[in-house]
Amino acid sequence: MNFQPILDSIDAEIRPLLGRGGQVANYIPALARVPAERFGIALRTCDGQEARAGDAETPFSIQSISKLFTLTRAMRRMGDALWERIGREPSGNPFNSLVQLEAEQGKPRNPFINAGAIAVADRLLSLGDRKADLLAFMSELSGEPIAFDDEVAASEAATGYRNLALANFMKSFGKIDNDVAAVVDLYFHQCAIRMNCVQLAHAAGFLCRDGAHPLDGRPEVASARQARRINALMLTCGTYDAAGDVAFSIGLPCKSGVGGGIVAVVPDKLSLCVWSPALDHSGNSLLGLKALELFAGRTGLSIF
Ligand code: GLN
Repeated sequence: MNFQPILDSIDAEIRPLLGRGGQVANYIPALARVPAERFGIALRTCDGQEARAGDAETPFSIQSISKLFTLTRAMRRMGDALWERIGREPSGNPFNSLVQLEAEQGKPRNPFINAGAIAVADRLLSLGDRKADLLAFMSELSGEPIAFDDEVAASEAATGYRNLALANFMKSFGKIDNDVAAVVDLYFHQCAIRMNCVQLAHAAGFLCRDGAHPLDGRPEVASARQARRINALMLTCGTYDAAGDVAFSIGLPCKSGVGGGIVAVVPDKLSLCVWSPALDHSGNSLLGLKALELFAGRTGLSIF
């Protein structure tokens, strides 16, 4: 399939809609300043074909897309022991909700809500993983040097009362081992990683190739079984309380972030990334989801 004309046609259809719906994340001051009228899309197939359109090379804050990569590191290093602290069920609640945590004694529903990602950050710290290790991992996967946006990290730290509450609440149940300040520092930095659609489409490539390195095919970023399971979690939990709707209308494993990016995977075929900063009420990119729906419709690609 020649993907370039398909991405060009999606870009042409989305562009007139920019600025006409949704809202950029404004609860993180540094994100509130990002212009809403942007759209990018990029993909890379398992055999190395690439296509991109629109603002595919403009960097943005990857936010919760980072949860995909910290989860991968934790699964690879801990195996099934990770699931003693974190569940694998959709939450059906907003990504920053506190309500289920009390009823479930501080065990987050899944690794893609904030509580779950904070618990993963705690596991990584216990394993000796540091911020620099995460950046090295992202750089190796995308084939280019990747950095934190320190202004976004500082902005999140200055306003992250809910995330601190989640971390402290889990700590009160004995479910966080490290110092809360160190755990949220890693979490705020992972959210503040800056990447563009092309880099993210590269980095997520191990998920469509049974865990092999996205650019050179080396084993193994994750085992084939782990890669399958990460895709399963993306489908069921990757877009928060909209995951059912996304499975219904797009039919691909996706992971979104409040910076407006969404990574999607077509197993055994390709990985792609869309970006548009204005969000819908669930915190997913409004036009990013629309673009993925157009992509699934035009290519006939879906896991179903
Ligand atoms: N940094 C954001 C937060 O903690 C990430 C949320 C997201 O992208 N859904 O609220």
